Amino acid sequence: MGENALVYSKDLKNYDFGPGHPFRGSRFLEFMKVFKENRFDKYFDIIEPKPVTEEDLLLVHTKEYINRVKEGKGIDLDTPLRPELYDAARLIVGVSKLAGELVWNGDYRKVIGIGGGLHHAKRSREAGFCIFNDVAVCAKNLINKGAERILILDTDAHAGDGTSEIFYSDNKVLFIDLHQDPRTLYPGKGFIEDMGVANGWGYTINVPMPPGASDKAYEYVLNEIFEPLALKFKPDVIIRYGGSDPHFSDPLTDLGLTLDGFRSIGEKVREVSERVCNGKVIDLMVSGYKNEVLPYAWMSLMAGLTNINAEFKDSFKPDVYSGLDETKNIVSKIKEKVRFYWDV
Ligand SMILES: [Zn+2]
Repeated sequence: MGENALVYSKDLKNYDFGPGHPFRGSRFLEFMKVFKENRFDKYFDIIEPKPVTEEDLLLVHTKEYINRVKEGKGIDLDTPLRPELYDAARLIVGVSKLAGELVWNGDYRKVIGIGGGLHHAKRSREAGFCIFNDVAVCAKNLINKGAERILILDTDAHAGDGTSEIFYSDNKVLFIDLHQDPRTLYPGKGFIEDMGVANGWGYTINVPMPPGASDKAYEYVLNEIFEPLALKFKPDVIIRYGGSDPHFSDPLTDLGLTLDGFRSIGEKVREVSERVCNGKVIDLMVSGYKNEVLPYAWMSLMAGLTNINAEFKDSFKPDVYSGLDETKNIVSKIKEKVRFYWDV
């Protein structure tokens, strides 16, 4: 078994919403350039994905919606569809599906999927730059292969409303979602009170972070929520996703993570995964709207996750304790709600 792989294709550049849109496909090429300049390619086997089939998409999405994407008939202004995007969107799902299988089959313990994490996509609707929900297809595919418990950790700045919707009544997936307070950021969802329904009650944990929340606030949530719940839930595998948009310089969000904070998230996921699932982690990254920061935040996440001895530093560092007191209050409210269920 190899240790680390990275799933990447230069064709990811075709996932592109056009000039003037904050999500351009060039991000992937730019990331790969910086990744290679920093010699990170020596730590990973780089593996080429293929677009998934329609059958794979049907694990999560409706036939009507898939046809609408094929025809390029969008209904979300932020996510302008074109017929050519169908193949690019299927390729991203292919990244995450393959990353999942490489870990599940025991080929690698840690697999990074570049382009994965399109968490706003719903069963039958595109949203927030996301067409197909690759995270959900990855998880459903692993459940079909025999996974009984999957922990999904969403550290993207925005709430993962698509992923949440898809697994809301599911108790095979524990979804822990850290995101900027939904009263202050798209998609305006992901409140503490939203904890799942029916069998899935208690299997959705939303952690709204106050604007400005920095490294220590994230560290607190991971120590107080992610770690104890992971130890209780004992997942077969962890899927973490989210790119650079919680960085303090990101123009679309108001959070406060530094590059050190991204590294710490990766480290924490590694440590917990070693205790609960033999170190098996699928790690997906796609977001980030500050081009100069994106590759370094992604590499900081990977470095922490795979224990690569490389550190990237911000030229300016905000107060890393920012938002910590408010976050402690939020965490205690969450603990109050989950206490009886999770006994933590
Ligand atoms: Zn985001």
